[in-house]
Order: sequence, then structure tokens, then C-alpha cells
Amino acid sequence: MATMQEPILLDRPDAPLVGGYEVIIGFETHAQLSTQSKIFSRASTAFGAEPNTQACAVDLALPGTLPVMNKGAVERAIAFGLAVNSHIAEKSVFARKNYFYPDLPKGYQISQFEIPVVQGGNVEFFLNEKKMSVRLVRAHLEEDAGKSLHEDFIGQSGIDLNRAGTPLLEIVTEPDMRSSAEAVAYAKELHKIVTWIGICDGNMQEGSFRCDANVSVRKPGGALGTRREIKNLNSFKFMQQAIDFEVRWQIEQIEDGHKIQQATVLFNPDTGETRAMRTKEDAADYRYFPDPDLPPLCIAREWVEKVRGEMAELPRAMAARFEKDYGLGEYDATQLTQSLALSAYFEAVSKACNQAKLASNWITGELARRLNAQDLSIEQTPVKADTLAALITRISDGTISNNAAKQVMDALWEDASASVDALIEAKGLKQMNDSGALEKIVDEAIAANAKNVAEFKAGNEKALNALVGQIMKASKGKANPQQVNDLLRAKLA
Ligand code: ADP
Ligand code: MG
Repeated sequence: MATMQEPILLDRPDAPLVGGYEVIIGFETHAQLSTQSKIFSRASTAFGAEPNTQACAVDLALPGTLPVMNKGAVERAIAFGLAVNSHIAEKSVFARKNYFYPDLPKGYQISQFEIPVVQGGNVEFFLNEKKMSVRLVRAHLEEDAGKSLHEDFIGQSGIDLNRAGTPLLEIVTEPDMRSSAEAVAYAKELHKIVTWIGICDGNMQEGSFRCDANVSVRKPGGALGTRREIKNLNSFKFMQQAIDFEVRWQIEQIEDGHKIQQATVLFNPDTGETRAMRTKEDAADYRYFPDPDLPPLCIAREWVEKVRGEMAELPRAMAARFEKDYGLGEYDATQLTQSLALSAYFEAVSKACNQAKLASNWITGELARRLNAQDLSIEQTPVKADTLAALITRISDGTISNNAAKQVMDALWEDASASVDALIEAKGLKQMNDSGALEKIVDEAIAANAKNVAEFKAGNEKALNALVGQIMKASKGKANPQQVNDLLRAKLA
């Protein structure tokens, strides 16, 4: 398969250890491409049809039929390659991967072997505010197989071939991940990329985005251990559980003096355990050979540029623009480009209030916290962009303090139709802008706290904070702390 030189990045001194072992993970992800029709036929790819109503003679490779490449599938592969800085092969080759399984009655899967369409590239993301990069080996086009149905038959299995011939992009990483947390963060980022550029609907329950995790363990600095491949992880939660279980299991085996056998394993969500399904075939077992029915896939550079030109701004480019145009840090910019909807929300808020930094803080802080608590997506936020912008405007023009704004936010969360200004009025949250009234409180505080005043005048800065605190309290939190500070300094100078 793809030759894997011992890559430099395999040494990761910062890698977390589990019981003295370093965890090594590489991913193979099958992303179902969002075309209307199959990869080599005109049959529909729609999900949920009656079994065996959407597989045509070409999908079954009946004698006399010939596959014809779906242009839309190729364009989606190109778009993916461009999104992750890969090389798009000028010429790639379809190969037959030969094996028999009940869900593949034609006896081979059309895939790409030696020369895949997408080569190299990398996926970057943040984990705990640390920037990570996972290198891709390749991404290749292939067709899906059918599906065995065990539930509806007693003592027998049914085969539904609707999925046969559905276009897939298989995305393969180098073994660059070092923990289940890194693996999940990678998978989430990859999911974000394919949905952002619209090549895959990302529906994990329906199997549109399935991850296989290759897991091994080694003593730090030692040779790579033998891997086991956990198949078809279709939720981020199971992914984490499955890898954690697998790592503990492998370490136990090694500690007990056993050797790990290369194998394909399945995760059982009910028991939380992984179990060997079959010993893993080697590439040689598949007797790959170029598919004589399909010519090589030739991609002119003009075609690549055309696809590039039609692509929306990518998350990385958008984050860079947010840094430059709005003066945000890289971390915040990345947070705000987690989805197209979130980035659009941020831009709408910051344009409406002209306070990008505050908008960023509020969206990644107060708003995100409330959304997470209720498991809501940004599309479901009760507080719309205009409303948040109005609230931020009242902070930036000094009408209310940041703390008071949080109270307004709470009220808006309950009643999204309320107006920001009406809430500020009703709750009496306006900061004291009447300088006469404020001066009176400041004078009273100076008179009543001779000790603090003397200490401040003697050079103790902390004594001023005590005074500010007294005044904030006396004003019931409505004084503007900055204004109080300025007034005090002027009076005590
Ligand atoms: P195959 O030919 O069996 O598919 P590949 O060389 O293509 O094998 O690797 C498949 C996946 O397994 C890749 O994602 C790769 O990064 C990962 N991988 C390879 N060796 C190891 C290892 N020792 N531990 C964990 N993952 C590995
Ligand atoms: Mg492989």
C-alpha cells in the first residue's frame, strides 16, 4: 500500500503516555460524496429507499455493462485536495480490489491503489489551545459495497445493495496522532472541512462519515508496534471510548507477555469493548490490478483551477482574514471558523456593532457557554446577531458594565423578543453617567476612608482598589469602574 517512510514527526517528545506506553494512531475515513447519482452509474444515492430498489446493473457489474466515471465525484475529490493542501494527481488509476463478501456479490470493489487522485496534504486544528497538524498520506475515490441486514430475518441475513456504487473518498493519515483526544480532534476537524466545502453531508448516523482508527502502542522511542484497526466508528463519543479501551487492552496483552496480532476489530457500544472480527488481510491478498473497464483519470490543471475558483473561502483562509481584518488572535479566529454558520454570525455581529474584539469574546465566551449547556448549535441560538450587537454596543458606549450585560443576556435567553434597551431600563442596570451624583459618592468615600486615602498617597496602589470597591458598592454596581478610578486619581493627586 502507500509506502510509509519512517516519518520524522513520529518522534513526539510531548506525547502523553499511558502506563509508560506511547499511543500511535492513524485514521482511514470514508466520506460519502454528496452526488445525486452513484460513482459509476446513474442510480440514485438517496438514503433510506426500500432495499434493493437503487442498485442498477452497472453497480452489480452484470455482464455487458461498463462503469462511467461520475464527474461530480471527481470534482469533490479535487475540492477536498485543495482544502487540505494536497497534490491533485494529473493522472490517477482505478484498480480492482478483489474479495468476496455477501455484500459485494460482484467479487471486487473499484478503488484506487498505487496512484490515488489526492496525494499528501495536512489537516490542522487546535487541541487545548495547542496547534496540531496531522499529515495525510492520500485520499482516493472508491465505490461503497452493499449492506448486510441481520435484524429483520430469523436465522438468516438479507443483503441490501442500494449502497453499492455510492461514491466514497477514503482519506488516509500518517500515524501522527498520540491520544484518543487528538484522534477525536482530528476527526472533528476533518468532518468540519468536508461539510464546509459541501462534498459530504457529514451525517454520521447514516454512515456518510465513517472512521477506522488504526491503533498501536510502543515504548517511547521504540519501533512501531503492531496495529489493530477499529472499524466503522460512527460517533465521536464511541471513537474516544473505543480507542481508550483498545489502548488499555493492548497494554495489558503486552504486559502479560503476549504479542499483538494485526487484526480488524469492532467496537461494541453496549459493552464499551473492542473485539477481533478477522485477522487483517495484506494488500497482496486483494490482488489489486488496474480496472480494465476504466481509463486512467486525467485531471487537467485548468479543471483544478476551475474547481478552486468555485470554492467558497476555506476555514483556514477565513481565520487568517479574521486575524488580519478584525485584529483577532489565531486561537479566537480558529474558534470562530468552526462552522460556516458561526463565522457568519460573528461577521454579522461585529459589522453591526463595529466591536470585533468584544464580539469575538462574547461569542466564544458567554454565547458558546449558554449554547453548550443546552446542546444547541449556533443556528438554534435564541439571541440573534442583531440583538447581541445591540447588547455589545451598550457595553462599548459605557451604558452598562460587562457584568450587567451578562444579566441582560440571561433575560434575552429567556425572551429573545425583548429589547436590549428596555431590559436595561427595566432592570435598572444603567451605569451612573451623571457625574454630579458620582462625585458625591466619591467624596463621601474619601471622607469615610481616611486610612485608605493616606495609604494611597503614601504610594500603596492597592489602597485605591479598596476605595473603588467601596464606591462600586455604594453605587450598587452602577458606577463605571474606569470613571471612578479616574475621578479618585484626580481628586487624590
Ligand atoms: P494498509 O495497507 O493495511 O491499509 P496503510 O499503510 O495504508 O496500511 O496504513 C493504514 C493506516 O494505519 C494509516 O492511517 C496509517 O497511518 C496507520 N498505521 C500504520 N502503521 C501504524 C501503526 N504501527 N500504528 C498505528 N497506526 C498505523
Ligand atoms: Mg488502507
